Formats: sequence, C-alpha cells, structure tokens
Amino acid sequence: MRKKLNIVLFGPPGAGKGTQSEFMIKRYKLVHLSTGDLLRAEKDAETPLGLQAQELMSNGLLVADDIVIGMIRNALHAHNKAKGFIFDGFPRTQAQAEALDELLSALGEEISMMLALEVPEEESVARLLKRGATSGRSDDKDETVIRKRIRIYEEETAPVKRYYQDKGKYTGIDGLGSIEDITARLAKAIG
Ligand code: ADP
Repeated sequence: MRKKLNIVLFGPPGAGKGTQSEFMIKRYKLVHLSTGDLLRAEKDAETPLGLQAQELMSNGLLVADDIVIGMIRNALHAHNKAKGFIFDGFPRTQAQAEALDELLSALGEEISMMLALEVPEEESVARLLKRGATSGRSDDKDETVIRKRIRIYEEETAPVKRYYQDKGKYTGIDGLGSIEDITARLAKAIG
C-alpha cells in the first residue's frame, strides 16, 4: 500500500496555492488544510480566536504560532482516516515546521514533500489586486498590505524552505504559465 501523501504546498501570497490545491484534492483524494481558510472561518463565526486574529490578518501580520498549530492539531485529529493532506499556508515559520513534524510523527506519519510555487513579486501583487477586486478579502485590496505580506513571507516564511531542503524534501515549481501548465508540473513532481 502506498504511504500517505502529505504535501506542503508552499509559495508567496498569490502564488496559486489555493487554485492548485483544488486539483490535488480531486486527483489524490487529499484533505486540504489551509490555515488562512481556517482563520477566516473563525473570523466569520466571530469566535474569540477569530476576532483576535482578524486585526493581524487585515494588517498582513502573522497570527501566533501556538494558535495556528492548535488549529492544525485539531484538523489532523478530525480527519484521522484521510489518505493524506495538503498543507496550504502552513507551516509559515520554522517553529510551525517543527511542530508539524512532531504532530505527524505522533501519528506515525511524515511530510512526503514540499512543492514550492515560484513567482516573482510583481506577478504576486498583480494577481492579489485582481483577486481583491472580487473576493471580498480586505487584505487583497490594499497594495501596502499585499507588499507587507510578501516582505513577511521573505523574512519569516522563506527560511522554512531551507528546513525541507535540508531533509531532501524540497521541489521548486515554476509558478508562471497557465493553470493547466502548472497543474501538470505539480503532477510530474508528485509522480
Ligand atoms: P495568502 O494569500 O497571503 O497566502 P492566506 O489565506 O494563506 O493568505 O493567509 C491569510 C492571513 O492569515 C495571513 O496574512 C496571516 O495573517 C494569517 N495566517 C494564515 N496562515 C498562517 C500561519 N500558518 N501562521 C500565521 N499566520 C497565518
């Protein structure tokens, strides 16, 4: 039997992680865990956690590690029959990457690979402004907030790449081109 497929889908804001997750969920029957989606659901439900996260999110800042790690822990336990997971927007810090390894290893599992969508900053900004025009996400409407998210990605999140490179689990994917082209590149990398 094939081992569980646990994929970290990585890349800057606007890289296309959400779009490509949809294809991977269908093709590989994986459960999609997006910390951004989970946080937005908490915000919409006006839970104390959601209200606390809201201000950070709308300013482009990261939510505290223990909060997002707790959400991922709950989601892993809620889907204990899953064939595998796509982690989207998580881990975003080294501490989150280490916590994810611990959570998975307690379940006898591990990350199979990190697939990183690579897109230049100007492309990210253009895509997010376009999404902001229709999505209702306030953090996509303001170019200053978008650029701040990209800075934070470079400073706090990009080092997570190194964490998976050191384990031989990193594959970079060219994130420019049509949605179908990028889907094909991801499928090839998954094998
Ligand atoms: P993006 O399109 O910027 O990648 P996401 O939907 O993944 O957006 O996340 C939106 C916001 O939610 C982030 O800017 C951040 O405030 C918060 N967030 C999401 N995931 C995490 C995480 N793993 N750690 C800390 N904050 C997070």
